[in-house]
Amino acid sequence: GPGLKVISTLSVGFDHLALDEIKKRGIRVGYTPDVLTDATAELSVALLLSACRRLPEAAEQVKSGGWTTWKPLWMCGHGLSDSTVGIVGLGRIGQAVARRLKPFGVRRFLYTGSGPKPESAAEFGAEFVPLTRLAEESDFVVVTCALTPATQGMCNKDFFGRMKKTSVFVNTSRGAVVNQEDLYEALAQGQIAAAGLDVTTPEPLPTDHPLLSLRNCVILPHIGSATYATRSAMAVLAAKNLLAGLRGEPMPHELQL
Ligand code: NDP
Repeated sequence: GPGLKVISTLSVGFDHLALDEIKKRGIRVGYTPDVLTDATAELSVALLLSACRRLPEAAEQVKSGGWTTWKPLWMCGHGLSDSTVGIVGLGRIGQAVARRLKPFGVRRFLYTGSGPKPESAAEFGAEFVPLTRLAEESDFVVVTCALTPATQGMCNKDFFGRMKKTSVFVNTSRGAVVNQEDLYEALAQGQIAAAGLDVTTPEPLPTDHPLLSLRNCVILPHIGSATYATRSAMAVLAAKNLLAGLRGEPMPHELQL
């Protein structure tokens, strides 16, 4: 209603807000960047490793009795050593992911976005490439961009069709960046090796969703920032944003609309 003056979101993403209307009404918006970067990057790495080394599937084999005698190729996956990693959106979280992956022996980093960011890329020697080339050359694609009209549905049939059969796709940004039907086809047809998703459309994902029937798809319930310390820091920042907004003072982190 007309009484709404300030919005404080407990997130760095703001794709859930009706920004045009908010701007029109002169409502101020606080959000929580930075404090969740490390936790979300950590979860991205955990998800990548789970998907590429098939951890949930392997753990299930132990429980179900599928673990019998040692076999050379049983439960093999793809490792990071000597690999090429493509980061879609080399922002705060994208850089934190690259920083964590580098010590695993990654040979080359690629990234894409609205333009080259030489200062951010220098730490990883990362090369700016178009999305198509990133898909074609990466052994691991990690999506850490914001959801915008430009990124909506960006990872689609064409994108997955360009990826290698041995490549692994990870998304910790927003579900809508991915065309899920196209991802399902790519995973089911063996066009790509595996996927790890922390975000889906919709959330929660219905328990009978086709993606959940695939053994090469690891899906988590949007827990990127879910550490006790991070959620606490987010809550404090969100409260400070709100109070500053109500007092008419500068917010610690205000969205520039
Ligand atoms: P930043 O704003 O620092 O980074 C966003 C990145 O998106 C920028 O590097 C930007 O690149 C990139 N981007 C924008 N448009 C495009 C495009 N067309 N193609 C490729 N990249 C693009 O945000 P954060 O790193 O802090 O957060 C990123 C996102 O992660 C959030 O918006 C949120 O949706 C998601 N998130 C998910 C969480 C989870 O729990 N899974 C937790 C926290 C965040 P450029 O600068 O070149 O435009």
